[in-house]
Amino acid sequence: MSRTAKAVSTRSWEGASLAHLEGGRGIEGEGGDPIAFDVEAVREEFPGLHQEVHGHPLVYLDNAATTQKPRAVIEAVTRFYEHDTSNIHRGVHTLAERATATYEGARRTVARTLGIEPREVVFTRGTTEAINLVARSFVRPRLSPGDEVIVTWLEHHANIVPWQIVCGEAGATVRAVPIDDRGVLDLDALAEALERGGKRVRMLAVGHISNAVGTVHPVRRIVELAHAHGVPVTVDGAQAVPHMPVDVAALGCDFYAFSGHKAYGPSGIGALWGRAEHLESMPPMQGGGDMIRSVSFDGTTFADPPTRFEAGTPNIEGTAGLAAALDFLDGLDRAAVQAHEEALAAHAVEELAAIPGVHLVGTAPERAAIVSFVVDGIHAHDVGTILDARGVAIRAGHHCAQPAMRRFGVAATARASFALYNTHHEVEALAAAVRHAQEMFGA
Ligand code: PMP
Repeated sequence: MSRTAKAVSTRSWEGASLAHLEGGRGIEGEGGDPIAFDVEAVREEFPGLHQEVHGHPLVYLDNAATTQKPRAVIEAVTRFYEHDTSNIHRGVHTLAERATATYEGARRTVARTLGIEPREVVFTRGTTEAINLVARSFVRPRLSPGDEVIVTWLEHHANIVPWQIVCGEAGATVRAVPIDDRGVLDLDALAEALERGGKRVRMLAVGHISNAVGTVHPVRRIVELAHAHGVPVTVDGAQAVPHMPVDVAALGCDFYAFSGHKAYGPSGIGALWGRAEHLESMPPMQGGGDMIRSVSFDGTTFADPPTRFEAGTPNIEGTAGLAAALDFLDGLDRAAVQAHEEALAAHAVEELAAIPGVHLVGTAPERAAIVSFVVDGIHAHDVGTILDARGVAIRAGHHCAQPAMRRFGVAATARASFALYNTHHEVEALAAAVRHAQEMFGA
């Protein structure tokens, strides 16, 4: 007997047919029963998906760069503008109170999503600003000449350059731990680097999921290794929050950063989680309104975290959208979503690997729905342009991970990255468009 997992447990599409197995492909659940995921019902919630590009239905496979937004997010931002527009904190009028409630309510939503305390959530512009805050305010004051920050070869530039900047100022070094040919982190080399660096290692910074090739790092194991040497860990969760439920306590890390726009929320808003004792020890990165306790020309005292790190008027409407996005994800059966995305990635790997002249870049066994590839005789940018002419949106380039590209011996890759609303039909459209590119180039 077939079993259907509830893909959508709340929201306006509740009650839609859940028995519909899109694209005719079943997803194996526990005991081998197929789990149905009603992707068509979910797609209805994303207006951006329903358009044509160059006369073809849009096939949006650039989700690692940013995701399309569900109606709930668009409406939350619009509602804020139409009814609650005001600045936060200190306001005595009703709209200011509503805006403050929106902002602080969003902080509680982020906290609930990651299983943490609201006072440990700092709103930032996104992952980049969050990592810069840790580098500038936590690591920089602790760095002396000869110290080290450890990263991996797979990191996004956002998890390399901030560390290089502060290390450069202090006469410290950024060390990169190698990955193997599949894109799997060399844990022995990491243990060695921690051993060799000893007390000089001030931070280990690692991505949860590689945006370049999709590797899911064993963060829990990495944190255990680092903590055994007394080294704190920052996790770049930009690609993880949209793809999997994240339990920060289970990971055991010290800082966790993510961006709203990659998780179906607005851009310009994200968050840093930091352990309360770490945040309390950190000086502010920016000065200005809101982040102070009292100001005089004899000296200024700063507010407690997280306010200490939120100088100036923040992206209030962005927090409304972010909370709506996290609630949207929360309203889905995350296990079914994950199974659906894994099936899409497996299907894409199968389709692409079957095309002569197409080579996958990154073949880690633990991977998210991100598939990087190169095509013999065609530059990745040309692949991207030809695919776009058929309505298929992928990304081509170094994916802000130039060291990773160098490690794989390529200048650029074409990258298809999947979201919960993608379909197996779209995987087939991707493969057909790649074959079409080869025909055009006579490859
Ligand atoms: N880390 C990873 C793994 C990413 O994929 C990205 C975005 N491509 C970032 C960090 C930076 O995120 P943002 O641009 O939203 O700050």
